[in-house]
Amino acid sequence: MSKFNTTLIHGGKIDDNNTGAINTPVYNSSTYVSPKFGADVRWDYERSGNPTRDSLEQLLAKLENGVGAFAFASGMAAITAAFSLFKPGDNIVIGDNIYGGTFRYINDYLKPNGVTFTSVDTRDSAAVEEAISSETKAIYFETVTNPLLQLTDVRQITAIAKKHDILTVIDNTFLSPYLQQPLNLGADVVIHSATKYLAGHSDLVAGVVVAKNKDVADQIYNYQNTTGAVLPPQECSILQRGIQTLAVRMDRHLFNVEKVIEFLESDSRISKIHYPGHDGDKNFDAIKDECKGFGGVLSFELNPGLNAKEFVNHVKVISFAVSLGAVESLAEVPAFQSHAEIPRDERLKVGITDELIRLSIGLEDYHDLIDDLKQALEFV
Ligand code: PLP
Repeated sequence: MSKFNTTLIHGGKIDDNNTGAINTPVYNSSTYVSPKFGADVRWDYERSGNPTRDSLEQLLAKLENGVGAFAFASGMAAITAAFSLFKPGDNIVIGDNIYGGTFRYINDYLKPNGVTFTSVDTRDSAAVEEAISSETKAIYFETVTNPLLQLTDVRQITAIAKKHDILTVIDNTFLSPYLQQPLNLGADVVIHSATKYLAGHSDLVAGVVVAKNKDVADQIYNYQNTTGAVLPPQECSILQRGIQTLAVRMDRHLFNVEKVIEFLESDSRISKIHYPGHDGDKNFDAIKDECKGFGGVLSFELNPGLNAKEFVNHVKVISFAVSLGAVESLAEVPAFQSHAEIPRDERLKVGITDELIRLSIGLEDYHDLIDDLKQALEFV
């Protein structure tokens, strides 16, 4: 088996005997001609399977070391597919700091349909174990949380899940398989908003589910084929191209993050930096070897009373926009954007202050990023 960086380039190729094209062609075909009645055909209808999607899915399965990967029309469609593994009466122990869209899906659709949730800080393994009941079927969390960049010990949580014979489902969007492969640490299902680092260029919305074992993979395939929120072939092709440069992009994200943090540490208007290893994360030493790095997102707090909105109003190289994981650097104010739905008291309790700014550090020259931060900070 080839090494990870080689797999990024070659892991998704399919045989195309007709042309020898070096890239997987975009098969814009909703249906496929059958040679004769009763013939055993590989392709019949786009929702059930498409060669371009198959190439991408094979690549993703290799990158996360699963038996099957499934490409969806968004990260949320992938999350919906993963939750289809559970039925009314099942309980899921869930990280208390997960993506807002996932919370909305749970509150608006899963809870009213009888799935129950117990929310815990998954950094606290004793609390996770205590939350497990006889109805619990899975533990669900994100490898690095948004916007406070808190790390969970994946090995410890998957060991607890195995002890109780339940699944571990992990949203690995913030790290990407280049930095962490949760299935290798004992997880059963990995999800990505491929919109972010996997695609990497702010040019599409996509989601991925990867399963460690065949039974779960078959269930996810059945859901994908039945409900049909598949990633169209053109997007599959664009996503596969983005994935080819994942390693070089992630290395550069990590390099730029370190430079930006060095600058932020030197600025007296900044009271706190949130990035693994920088704000006294209690699990840090135990789990820093579980990943190769912590990704390109960080957040920081301005001193109390300073105005985060004026910061985002004045960035020039950095764009004032939601999302993350792309070549462009992006800034947002979680309290008024991604986390605005959370009541202020609750938000403050978990540490999302009005002065908190989240940055997704892109691939620009870091000198330009630092100059931009300096000038925008003059307005706060
Ligand atoms: N998971 C995480 C951690 C996210 O940050 C997001 C989106 O920001 C999603 C899932 C949802 O993905 P999408 O926007 O591709 O539907």
